[in-house]
Amino acid sequence: MNSPFDIAVAGSGAAGIAAAICSARSGVKTLLLDRRPAAGGIGGFSGLTTLCGLHDDSGRLLNDGFSREFAEALAEGPPVSMGKVWVLPYRPERFRELASSLLSSTPNLITVWNTSVDQVTRDGDSITHLNSIRVQAVIDCTGTAEVARAIGADCLSTDQQTQSPAVVFPLHGIERDLSNVIAATQVLLPLARAGLPPLNFQPHPEPNSITVKFSGRADQASAVIDFLRANVAGFENCRTSCTEFHASPRAGRMVVGQYLLTGDDVLAAHKFPDAIARCAWPIEQWNAAGASRLRHLPPGQHYEIPARSLRAARAPNLFMAGKTISADADAIASARVMGCCLATGAAAGNLAAAFVGSSGTAGHP
Ligand SMILES: Cc1cc2nc3c(=O)[nH]c(=O)nc-3n(C[C@H](O)[C@H](O)[C@H](O)COP(=O)(O)OP(=O)(O)OC[C@H]3O[C@@H](n4cnc5c(N)ncnc54)[C@H](O)[C@@H]3O)c2cc1C
Repeated sequence: MNSPFDIAVAGSGAAGIAAAICSARSGVKTLLLDRRPAAGGIGGFSGLTTLCGLHDDSGRLLNDGFSREFAEALAEGPPVSMGKVWVLPYRPERFRELASSLLSSTPNLITVWNTSVDQVTRDGDSITHLNSIRVQAVIDCTGTAEVARAIGADCLSTDQQTQSPAVVFPLHGIERDLSNVIAATQVLLPLARAGLPPLNFQPHPEPNSITVKFSGRADQASAVIDFLRANVAGFENCRTSCTEFHASPRAGRMVVGQYLLTGDDVLAAHKFPDAIARCAWPIEQWNAAGASRLRHLPPGQHYEIPARSLRAARAPNLFMAGKTISADADAIASARVMGCCLATGAAAGNLAAAFVGSSGTAGHP
């Protein structure tokens, strides 16, 4: 494992899966490592069942290439309209299986699991080694900028007050329509009176099933399920397949890059000459009380993400994708959704491969 690689991708969530596959498909020797035992990240392991950020407000796919390929292979039904946005319902086990089969069938790609990035070595500004492995370029897809932090690169954090952690789990066996706001409110009122956290309901691809999200403590999940069973019509026989509840952090850390994407860029549907991805998801913030604040782009519009937001300001061979791109707290509150992570991941893989190719060292580090 100490043999050299052209590109190392740290983190195998939506962004890292896309980055590693696109880098390797460009013909450069690529290493993907993750501290977990398998690929998936938040999209595969936190109970989520809706892939957001793939579509514009008419339901048209915003990005081609790997984003489209992954979404089409993941889909078991059409995208669903939720107010002004579209989401693709998916099963998390299918997300993990698809990632695993794509990664294992990609030439030039080696995966290493159960391995944390704990050592990053530099020569001047450039990274030379990751965990003692010699590399030409690195893509930080850890969601919390672990590679960038290790070399002391400039980073920004998401505001924890406006991006609270949330507990996510599926509920099956529901005999009640929750597809409109009034129906959902009739469920939320008794929960609020009982002092339980407000729930957010998301589509689940299986019949009589929904995905529940709430901002709060993991140990409140059992109380929520017990309360619904005992007190809310249509939930008498509800059950979850989740065996262990935990709160997933929405907040992350972004690396300051050659361009800092801002909330103003998002809301103004800004376009860039070096655009590598499109996104139309609103700026979506969730406070600790479980209330969301959505700020939408103008109707029919999308913004672009420039290549410069995927390149670290101070390390020429460090690239970022997913939740770590160079963005302020408002911009990442839009660009963190998985559709955007797939698109920035794919672009980072291609950019890093071109960087290694242009330095004339691909395959010969
Ligand atoms: C509660 C919640 C609800 C959400 N709901 C939705 C939704 O409905 N739809 C949607 O599209 N998006 C949703 N999101 C946002 C979205 O899921 C994430 O922003 C997105 O999945 C991030 O992808 P990523 O690849 O950047 O990072 P992650 O998925 O976080 O992947 C990072 C990977 O890096 C690995 N890693 C971290 N540190 C190290 C290290 N030191 N060494 C090695 N590996 C490391 C981790 O193990 C992980 O596998 C939600 C997020 C949360 C938390």
